[in-house]
Amino acid sequence: MAEIRFKSYEQSISRKPVISKPPADKVSEYFGVNVFDFKSMQRYLPKETLKKVTASINSGDRIDRQVAEQIASSMKAWAMNKGVTHYTHWFQPLTGNTAEKHDAFFELDSNLNAFENFSGEALVQQEPDASSLPSGGIRNTFEARGYTAWDPSSPAFIMESAAGKTLCIPTVFVSYTGETLDYKAPLLKALHNIDEAAVAVCKYFDKNVGRVNATLGIEQEYFLIDTALFHARPDLMMTGRTVFGHAPAKGQQMEDHYFGSIPERAYAFMTDLEYEAFKLGIPLKTRHNEVAPSQFECAPVFEEINLAVDHNQLLMDLMDKVARRHNFKVLFHEKPYAGINGSGKHNNWSLVTDTGKNLLSPGNTPKTNLQFLTFFINTIKAVHDYADLLRASIASSGNAHRLGANEAPPAIMSIFIGSQLTQVLDEIESTVSAKKMTPEEKTELKLNIGRIPEILLDNTDRNRTSPFAFTGNKFEFRAVGSQTNSSSPMGILNTIVANQLRQFKKEVDALIKKKVGKDEAILKVLRKLIVESKNIRFEGNGYGEEWVKEAKKRGLANIQSTAEALDALISKEAIELFESNNIFSKREAHARHEILLEDFTKKLEIESRLIGDLAVNHIIPTALKYQTMLISNVQGLQNLKLKADVFDFQLNLIKTISKRISGIKKEVEEMVKLREKAETTDNARKKAIIYNDKIKPLFDKIRTNVDALEMMVDDKEWPLPKYREMILLR
Ligand code: ADP
Ligand code: MG
Repeated sequence: MAEIRFKSYEQSISRKPVISKPPADKVSEYFGVNVFDFKSMQRYLPKETLKKVTASINSGDRIDRQVAEQIASSMKAWAMNKGVTHYTHWFQPLTGNTAEKHDAFFELDSNLNAFENFSGEALVQQEPDASSLPSGGIRNTFEARGYTAWDPSSPAFIMESAAGKTLCIPTVFVSYTGETLDYKAPLLKALHNIDEAAVAVCKYFDKNVGRVNATLGIEQEYFLIDTALFHARPDLMMTGRTVFGHAPAKGQQMEDHYFGSIPERAYAFMTDLEYEAFKLGIPLKTRHNEVAPSQFECAPVFEEINLAVDHNQLLMDLMDKVARRHNFKVLFHEKPYAGINGSGKHNNWSLVTDTGKNLLSPGNTPKTNLQFLTFFINTIKAVHDYADLLRASIASSGNAHRLGANEAPPAIMSIFIGSQLTQVLDEIESTVSAKKMTPEEKTELKLNIGRIPEILLDNTDRNRTSPFAFTGNKFEFRAVGSQTNSSSPMGILNTIVANQLRQFKKEVDALIKKKVGKDEAILKVLRKLIVESKNIRFEGNGYGEEWVKEAKKRGLANIQSTAEALDALISKEAIELFESNNIFSKREAHARHEILLEDFTKKLEIESRLIGDLAVNHIIPTALKYQTMLISNVQGLQNLKLKADVFDFQLNLIKTISKRISGIKKEVEEMVKLREKAETTDNARKKAIIYNDKIKPLFDKIRTNVDALEMMVDDKEWPLPKYREMILLR
């Protein structure tokens, strides 16, 4: 078998890379051509309508029917001009993928004449029969129906494929009874919260601020593998990761891949991807090799969060499609290969006002820096108070391999802020006190706060081991897994920060009411927050063993198990937070919790069955065949009447192979029994824990035996492509 597949691999790598041509010489000439953005709206919409739409988008208010009708008709005109025949509501159900169901523009009138139509109603709302998408039991109890509703804050776009073009309309997905069933709806609610809460706090510093947008820049890591090799690995095809494979002699230890020159084939893929992304208005800016061989990263310029998330979901989809043209498969799994780096999706987050001020960027006056410190410290406090929830927002079967593993942030939530800002916070802590500050103290403090920017410029000691790091003008949440829909962590982050800002405002207002000066009141509350959140700040090596011990002493959680990490989603505090911020009802939170547990269990179940199949039907027969060959070799030598020590090696190998095989058999049987046991419980959490605590450890045991056999059996006979072939990109 191997022979045939390797032949297609040889063909694949001997082929010249596909070099695609950009639609125009300059990116600026075709950036966003497939987006119904402000520019296209200007061309296609009457002025009055355009005004109304922009106002609704900015205020988040409903767009009325008549306006929707006009938008639909101009969207249709614009799209048909570009050869589009179908449209779809594009949404993000809790499967983690994007979903679409296409409808044609064409309709029939009563005389059976065909004509093209796209009504306001079709734009605003659809009822896809989505009963097989996960709902955590919500739709079974009430109505089977769910509907998608237009999100006008993310522009419609055209998805091109060789076979045709489709107009995609970003939507939220909710149940008929109004419960959210997707990633986007809770994110939009969280963004509404952060806007409201941040604007209220901004008013202390600048009365002109009318809106605050959360911004997000997503760094996307991924692996590339040749399609022929991918198809020769059933584990990659079915689970996204390799369940077996001995470590290669040369992995990433030479550190020669990172920022190295990009291999020609990968380069061709990246440029092609960029052309496609640019047409869709995705501002891809950075591309480079990552740490592991055949691992890469791309990052767009940051955008408003809702758009950034849509663009990231769309980008992953594009990557998959474009890769096919280049005979590549993109691996988005957090840990496709054991023993080398996994992939993350760093979420760079900040807040920006409609006056153009980045609230996490220190300014050049004490006043703007007090504003900076306010948002900075409140974020730290929010993360401190809801660290478990943030941890839960990134928990998944894939990310479990990464958190705490080789060169990935640990499962312990901590925040890195750099030595200079640590000093500033320490100073506020020691200078500001419960009693009234003296004028000298105030002047001194103001002076120091005013000095922040020049200090930050020198702050180059960027700690790469922290899961949540301040990087000069934004926070970078690094523990997010490469497959994760960023709505999940960003929904939580913006909710907890909004919640904290409201709390902060309440406390400051209370002091002001007691006649404490505004700045002093702010500083007093900030000091309190600094003290209360101190133990989540960590400047040292997050990958070290000492940190695990130190974190334990500080009482910080270190939850390795996904099933247990997810508990935080339905804790008393979480439900209170969700309800008071109008993110989820208790029912929705529980439904989501259930869906995530099921997702975890199902993925492990697939892995478990695949491991059993591969081990018993691929690996053991190969090992037996080789063993039989060894036996006849020994018999031949015996026939020659040679001394036993001549075939010592073969005899030992025969025995070791038998030992490994019986090990595998025993472990696979045990795994099957445990799976049956897991089937006997209906409790999603209990089931997930059996999979995590009992079944998953067997994966490693089986793997040890299989990987040992890989080192014994004739290379030509081994049924799977090996690590050295897969990770060294040719
Ligand atoms: P690095 O790998 O050094 O962390 P990259 O350049 O790969 O940095 O990615 C940094 C990301 O952070 C980019 O997507 C960038 O646009 C984004 N970013 C920069 N400023 C902000 C901001 N104010 N808010 C959100 N994201 C930001
Ligand atoms: Mg980067």
